[in-house]
Amino acid sequence: MPTTNDKAVVQDYFNTVGFDRWRRIYGDGDVNKVQKDIRIGHQQTVDTVISWLKADGDLSGQSFCDAGCGVGSLSIPLATMGIQVSASDISKKMVEEAQSRAQQTLGQDQNPNFSVQDLETLSGSFDTVICLDVLIHYPDQKVPEMINHLASLAKSRIILSFAPWTIGYMLLKKIGSFFPGPSKTTRAYLHRDFDICDILRSQGWTIERKAMTKTSFYFSRIIEAKRPDA
Ligand code: SAM
Repeated sequence: MPTTNDKAVVQDYFNTVGFDRWRRIYGDGDVNKVQKDIRIGHQQTVDTVISWLKADGDLSGQSFCDAGCGVGSLSIPLATMGIQVSASDISKKMVEEAQSRAQQTLGQDQNPNFSVQDLETLSGSFDTVICLDVLIHYPDQKVPEMINHLASLAKSRIILSFAPWTIGYMLLKKIGSFFPGPSKTTRAYLHRDFDICDILRSQGWTIERKAMTKTSFYFSRIIEAKRPDA
């Protein structure tokens, strides 16, 4: 199980060539067609999560953990909703970019509170824990431990998104389209919807909402689970 190595590779990737690539994809400048498609798909995932949260009423003052926050694509809109956001990422470069974008958009540096951290070492207690599009870096064997850890930090709700295992997507992965451009340096792990739901249910969580984002090159299953007493 090459997980330690995987993590070092992922961290290095998102501090170097991957940082450059994903900073552009998660931005608004010129990108190629595949990257544009992924940008649009990823924004749909963020928008779905925000629409779920808004449908639940005023969440200002609540504490949220954005685990694997990337360049802050979710953390920043959460902060504009008055949510207290703890955002972290294993990549220092991604966190620096997120901080800079938050500063530009929000004009303040206290919320979100950013840190460079491996999500498996995160501690604390949050009303909601969200982890978007990070499971792709975790092989199946490591997923239960990772989800259980994130769930242990959540008082009432967890929201996860991941690339779902489907035959079509397997084909796409085989032709190497997930990481666009010449350097596709990290492995992409796909997960089965029912496996992720089983992990959550086995810990007493109830699946509340599901959605699927699907563009030509971007696929993401989104799951919201709540503690039964929440
Ligand atoms: N969640 C963000 C979003 O949706 O905009 C970023 C998604 S990006 C595809 C994956 C991010 O996960 C990268 O920023 C990467 O550095 C981060 N990541 C990967 N493994 C991680 C880990 N073990 N702990 C924390 N962050 C991690």
